[in-house]
Amino acid sequence: MATATPEAAAATATATAEQTNGGAGAGEQKTRHSEVGHKSLLKSDELYQYILETSVYPREHECMKELREVTAKHPWNLMTTSADEGQFLNLLLKLIGAKKTMEIGVYTGYSLLATALAIPDDGTILAMDINRENYELGLPSIEKAGVAHKIEFREGPALPVLDQLLEEESNHGSFDFVFVDADKDNYLNYHERLMKLVRIGGLVGYDNTLWNGSVVLPADAPMRKYIRYYRDFVLEINKALAADDRVEICQLPVGDGITLCRRVK
Ligand code: SAH
Ligand code: CA
Repeated sequence: MATATPEAAAATATATAEQTNGGAGAGEQKTRHSEVGHKSLLKSDELYQYILETSVYPREHECMKELREVTAKHPWNLMTTSADEGQFLNLLLKLIGAKKTMEIGVYTGYSLLATALAIPDDGTILAMDINRENYELGLPSIEKAGVAHKIEFREGPALPVLDQLLEEESNHGSFDFVFVDADKDNYLNYHERLMKLVRIGGLVGYDNTLWNGSVVLPADAPMRKYIRYYRDFVLEINKALAADDRVEICQLPVGDGITLCRRVK
C-alpha cells in the first residue's frame, strides 16, 4: 500500500521524459518535456509544443489553466495530468456521454476538472485520494468553474471504497467511466472490482501504462527508483489487460500512456 510521502506519491506520477532522456541513446539534452505540463513520450519537443500551443492552450478552460498554474508551483507537480491529456479526457467523456463516473487518484484535480466540465450538470464523480490537501489546492478553481457539486471526494485508499461499493447490488454495472491514476501496484486489484462496477459498454482508462517509456528499457538500464519499482507492475498490467476478454482495449501514447478498456462482458 502506498504511503502519503512525496516519494510514494511521485511513484504514482505521470513521469516525464527526463528519465528517458537520461537513458541510453536517447540524447543528452534536458528538454521542455521535463517541465510540468509539457509531458509527452513524443520524441520531438517541437512537435509536442506545437500541439500544446496550436490546439490545447488556446482552447483550455480558464479554470483548468488556473488549476494547472497552481499545480505547477507544487513540489510533486510531475504527477499532474498534462493539458493535452486533460483535453483528450474531456472530449472522450463527452463522446461517450458519461454521467456517472469515478476517479482513483486526484492529486490537485486537473483530470478531475476535465471530467467535471465534460459530464452533464447532474453527472457525478466519486473521487478518491489518500491526500485531501492536494485536492484542496485545486478546489477553488473547480468551484470557480461551477462544477464542484458533481464531485464527491473520499479521502483514503481507494480499494476499500470499491469493496464497499460492491456490497451494494445497485452499484454493480452502474458506472459509465472510471479514470484510474493512482498506485500502480493496485491496478489489477482495481481492475477486478471495476469489471463489476462499470456497466457493459462502459469505459475504464488506466493511466501511465507506458511508465515513462521504461516498459521497453532493459531491466539493467538506469532508472529512477520509483520508475524501477513500479515498472514490473506496469508490465504486468499491460499483459493482463491485453489478455482480458472482458474488455476491448486501446493503448494510446497520450501523456504517459493511457489504456482505454471498454467492458464487453
Ligand atoms: N489524476 C491526477 C494525478 C494523480 S497522481 C491529476 O490529474 O493531477 C496519483 C495520486 O494517487 C496521488 O495524488 C496519490 O495521493 C494518489 N494515491 C496513491 N495511492 C492511492 C490509493 N491507494 N488510493 C487512492 N489514491 C491514491
Ligand atoms: Ca497520471
